[in-house]
Amino acid sequence: MQTTSTTLVVIGGGPGGYIAAIRAAQLGVATILIEGDQLGGTCLNIGCIPSKALIHAAEEFEKAKHYAEGSALGIQVASPSIQIEQTVSWKNGIVKRLTTGVGALLKKNGAQVVKGWAQIIDGKTVAVMQDGQEVQRITCEHLLIASGSSAVELPFMPFGAGNGKVISSTEALSPNSIPKKLVVVGGGYIGLELGITYRKLGSEVAVVEAMDRILPAYDEELTKVVRNAMKQLGIEVHLGLSVQGLNADNTAVRLKNAAGEESELACDQVLVAVGRRPRTQGFGLESLLLDMNGRAVKIDDQCRTSMRNVWAIGDVTGEPMLAHRAMAQGEMVAEIIAGKRRHFSPASIPAVCFTDPELVVVGMSPQEAQAAGIVIITANFPFAANGRSMTLESSEGFVRVVARKDNHLILGWQAVGRSVSELSAGFGLCLEMGASLEDVAGTIHSHPTLGEAVQEAALRALGHALHI
Ligand code: FAD
Repeated sequence: MQTTSTTLVVIGGGPGGYIAAIRAAQLGVATILIEGDQLGGTCLNIGCIPSKALIHAAEEFEKAKHYAEGSALGIQVASPSIQIEQTVSWKNGIVKRLTTGVGALLKKNGAQVVKGWAQIIDGKTVAVMQDGQEVQRITCEHLLIASGSSAVELPFMPFGAGNGKVISSTEALSPNSIPKKLVVVGGGYIGLELGITYRKLGSEVAVVEAMDRILPAYDEELTKVVRNAMKQLGIEVHLGLSVQGLNADNTAVRLKNAAGEESELACDQVLVAVGRRPRTQGFGLESLLLDMNGRAVKIDDQCRTSMRNVWAIGDVTGEPMLAHRAMAQGEMVAEIIAGKRRHFSPASIPAVCFTDPELVVVGMSPQEAQAAGIVIITANFPFAANGRSMTLESSEGFVRVVARKDNHLILGWQAVGRSVSELSAGFGLCLEMGASLEDVAGTIHSHPTLGEAVQEAALRALGHALHI
């Protein structure tokens, strides 16, 4: 058996781990990345990228159906159909290109990739397992845990139950066929992104959420716009209901409301999307006895764990479980190990929900700012008053800015509407640069763009919007 010594071992080749390994290698740190499955992790293989590919395909199909029904644009299309096998194979092609690219980037930058499952022996020693056998032992100065997360299973309705009727997002992203009736358990962003996608692909979709509203992590004024759009698409939303399991012949999901009354919802497939859990078990992590935050590894603002040379990034450290957070943390840890002074500021991590319409929030909401005792000014600008939105046939939603009343420093942005995900980088930049309302209002925005709604929201907060 081979024994190797290196400076940094990274466990996991998802967006957190591969970025850390690339950056560390760029800075001359001898780095070995261990990945048991596919490079790219959840994000590239079964998360961000495949979901956005399917969302796009479903949008295009929906558009074609809309044209076939007769559109105001004068475009005529004969009745469209979709070959889902081909859609999945197109999506798989994108995943393959990206994951191959990650391997090439790691190689180009000099990070070594070892295929196998890491088993932690101690804070400086890791065994690499293949088919249950140890094939390599690696000692290191620094150990970075980037093992990600996995989908939460309902114990009374596990994935695969009902002869495969119960699926996770992973199976939902590679369908062989589109179910007639899909029940989505969970009204968070993964459930809604996929529920909307399946509706557009032809399923009858019902979403069941235990809380009293969808997307409970986002503020209600924004989520109402998504809820309305879902209603127009014909998606049923059942709130305040807890799922009890499948009925005896696996044809329906059993539900219970707060009063204990039971009901059933017919299904051909059930997508369980009730959250993700940090992957902290089964590879010796417990033996390090690190301080934990619930199920997540506890970290400080440099992503150090309670053991000096052991670091953790990404989903394994808990919420917000987002690829760009994992990547930013990975880059930072690599730089600290290479001797640079860095710390992680979570103030400007955008959260985007690729529903239709999309949602984005960055920084503080009005409620969060008020709860922190800050006196604020806030203003909305509706896309209904934005020319570009009209030319895109979508004028629902708005942009909202939150700023300090005393010096107009921008504290947060929220937006809901078509393609608002593309506004998120600018929102983040405002917070990173400490921009004021005057900075945004005084920046010449190109016309006609959705970004003009951002400028107008700042102008409106200053009391002199021009287009409303
Ligand atoms: P992961 O990407 O989970 O990677 C961890 C890697 O570690 C895996 O490859 C795993 O095989 C490997 N590993 C684990 N244990 C070991 C071990 N012992 N030995 C070797 N290898 C190991 N986020 C966004 O920001 N935007 C989105 O649009 C978005 N959409 C999503 C859609 C879906 C359907 C899902 C499921 C997730 C989505 N996410 C999205 C979340 C995003 O995928 C995660 O936040 C991100 O992948 C976390 O990166 P990570 O590096 O922490 O872990």
